[in-house]
Amino acid sequence: MTSKQLNPDVVVIGSGVSGLSTAKSLKDIGYSVIVLEAASHIGGRCVTDNSIFDIPFDLGGSWLHSADINPLARIAEQKNFKLHKKNWSNTWVHSNGVNLTSEQIREYIQYIEKMWQNINNIDASKKDLSVEKLLPKSKWKGIAKNQISQMLAADPEVSSALDVFHFTNSKGDWLVENGLGAFIKHLFNDIEVVTDCPATKIDYSSNGVRVETPEGIINSKYAVLTVSTGVLANEKIKFFPELPIRKKEAINNLPIGLLNKIGFEFDLSWQEAHQGQTADYLVGERDFCSIEFGFYDSNIAVGFVGGRFAEELEIDGLGSATNFCCDALKAIFGNKIVKFINKTTETAWKSNTNSYGSYSYALPGGFEAREILAETLNDRLFFAGEATMSNSQATVHGAFLSGIKVAEKILAIDTAN
Ligand SMILES: Cc1cc2nc3c(=O)[nH]c(=O)nc-3n(C[C@H](O)[C@H](O)[C@H](O)COP(=O)(O)OP(=O)(O)OC[C@H]3O[C@@H](n4cnc5c(N)ncnc54)[C@H](O)[C@@H]3O)c2cc1C
Repeated sequence: MTSKQLNPDVVVIGSGVSGLSTAKSLKDIGYSVIVLEAASHIGGRCVTDNSIFDIPFDLGGSWLHSADINPLARIAEQKNFKLHKKNWSNTWVHSNGVNLTSEQIREYIQYIEKMWQNINNIDASKKDLSVEKLLPKSKWKGIAKNQISQMLAADPEVSSALDVFHFTNSKGDWLVENGLGAFIKHLFNDIEVVTDCPATKIDYSSNGVRVETPEGIINSKYAVLTVSTGVLANEKIKFFPELPIRKKEAINNLPIGLLNKIGFEFDLSWQEAHQGQTADYLVGERDFCSIEFGFYDSNIAVGFVGGRFAEELEIDGLGSATNFCCDALKAIFGNKIVKFINKTTETAWKSNTNSYGSYSYALPGGFEAREILAETLNDRLFFAGEATMSNSQATVHGAFLSGIKVAEKILAIDTAN
């Protein structure tokens, strides 16, 4: 770090989408900012890897969800990034040894729609229940509820229904050609980040904030903490004074869930599945994966495993999730498919000590924790990140918006003082 950087107005901890968005918003209104990043890359949970396949592969966030109302979708359009807007739906479903017929798949899809409707129609003034409690009874419940473990990165039994209810959903799940992580990197290419430099202690006890790192100490007027609730819960950063109990409870009510991705590169001669087609595969009650084909209209498919099952596979070791998805492919397309798989990869987000998982979910009864997590301490320690958003949590655009929101908070406090 250069001495010039040592006394900025604001130190931002984390260069994920929320940290980058915070830094850009503050710089645009004239603040000096330093961004500290523990990892050796920027983007955090939204990062594109160009080294695995010929086609860029997003290890974390890849969809611009709720594209209709997603500010990043508007920016991508304005900047003429190529977008893939095709809807995805189930073409194949294999449940415990049986390939469903098209009529059964139609019923399955209808059940999934009903399942989300039930959650979105709850009476928000009533007690917060688990998502599981709201699932309609049906023969499809057993398989369909596994979709929730992927969407929320947590099983329905441990997820708050009110938290899902408060998420503002809208039409469109878009992919950005060359990867969402690459798009984010491009968007914030003017933000300087000090990588490989974790914050280890934050002292917010007196005027200003003092942030300790292995590279030295930074004194600033304000600090913005954007790390995941996994990093907070694992106490990777020490605080002085300690975080208030209210804040600690909020962190505990917002655990970080797990969604892992399994990438497949098929030989170009394999043409049985295309963009927009999805295969679901269930063994037993909750050993479940979904595989989406033709990412970016290419020969790349992405498998997903979520919740407790994903944790078990990650603990079993690298390759376990890939093997499970391979079983799914064989069950649906026959054993011959193996010959067409050129390369595979899989993520292990739980073992990543810069996040400890994929994205936050709220425990039943804990949905208000997002607002508490977002509360500022002593008018100088601010919080941003996907987990602080009550209507766009667990997303890239939520992280982006949280950065803008926290910059506005800093400006308001600074102007008032
Ligand atoms: C597999 C997967 C798939 C996903 N799919 C989608 C999707 O399709 N669409 C979507 O909208 N969202 C998706 N998400 C969620 C989305 O990626 C996240 O919500 C978003 O990227 C979080 O951004 P953030 O800035 O809040 O946190 P982060 O990206 O975690 O940023 C925090 C940063 O802090 C750094 N850090 C940690 N500790 C320290 C420290 N002590 N000092 C300094 N820096 C530190 C981390 O390295 C990280 O870079 C997905 C996530 C995963 C993992």
